[in-house]
Amino acid sequence: MLIIKDKRALQEAVNELKLGNKSIGFVPTMGALHQGHLSLVEKAKVENDVVVCSVFVNPTQFNDKVDFANYPRTEQEDTDLLKNNGCSILYLPTVEDIYEGEEDFNLDLKGLDNTLEGSYRPGHFDGVVRVVKRFFEIVNPTKSYFGLKDYQQFLIIKELANSFGLGGEIIGCETFRESSGLAMSSRNQLLTSEEKRIAQEIFKSFSNIKNQANSVSILKLIEIEKERLSKWFLIDYFEARDSKNLKEINSETLQSGRLFFAGKIGKVRLIDNIGIFN
Ligand code: AMP
Repeated sequence: MLIIKDKRALQEAVNELKLGNKSIGFVPTMGALHQGHLSLVEKAKVENDVVVCSVFVNPTQFNDKVDFANYPRTEQEDTDLLKNNGCSILYLPTVEDIYEGEEDFNLDLKGLDNTLEGSYRPGHFDGVVRVVKRFFEIVNPTKSYFGLKDYQQFLIIKELANSFGLGGEIIGCETFRESSGLAMSSRNQLLTSEEKRIAQEIFKSFSNIKNQANSVSILKLIEIEKERLSKWFLIDYFEARDSKNLKEINSETLQSGRLFFAGKIGKVRLIDNIGIFN
């Protein structure tokens, strides 16, 4: 595995591969890698000749300085994991390397950024869009892989890719869960064992709603589960939204509805989402 810290060296390596007609699958991450990330790498490996991964904790997407400072950083373990799981090129840029040469741009996200995470983390998606646009310009991938764990981010990245013709094909990958149902997340490392046990309740609530969705009103079911989870969590939101545009669901859009949860347990904020009928 090639480890590259400089964008020009990365671009040279990618250009050479493209001259040889090789397809490039790109997996951007913030590190502290787990099996969820590796499932994206695996999919990229199956679908492309070469896999490029990045590990970069992007300061511009953290609206909270303490959260940025506390974000887990495990560079050596990440490097070893990627080397052993099919990554060919690991891009480990500095902040300067990414943002040097950035041009101003306007992007209409059609309201996708103003709701859910956007309401609770002001400026977060501006930072995500900025960094992913830079990555797409630098890496110029054939296909790019994003987790549906961050569903709102996935929709926003698709909009970014369509608007600028960047990133190649955007592939959404199913959320990888522990056997308990807890969605894997780098932030899980920050939970105590008791908090981790409680964190499983999010998936239990999702399952309770999915199991009764055919016979009971979704809004009623969410109200019950929100009440149940509020014993342990400081909940930011628990809502059903249209999976295409994140608007509130109605009887016509119910079939393509998704549940979205965000809440804090102790000091750690967790998010998760799931399709109601699929
Ligand atoms: P992050 O390092 O948290 O920025 O995540 C990098 C990529 O991995 C994003 O596209 C995430 O949506 C994706 N990802 C994170 N956790 C999971 C998971 N449990 N299952 C699938 N994809 C994930």
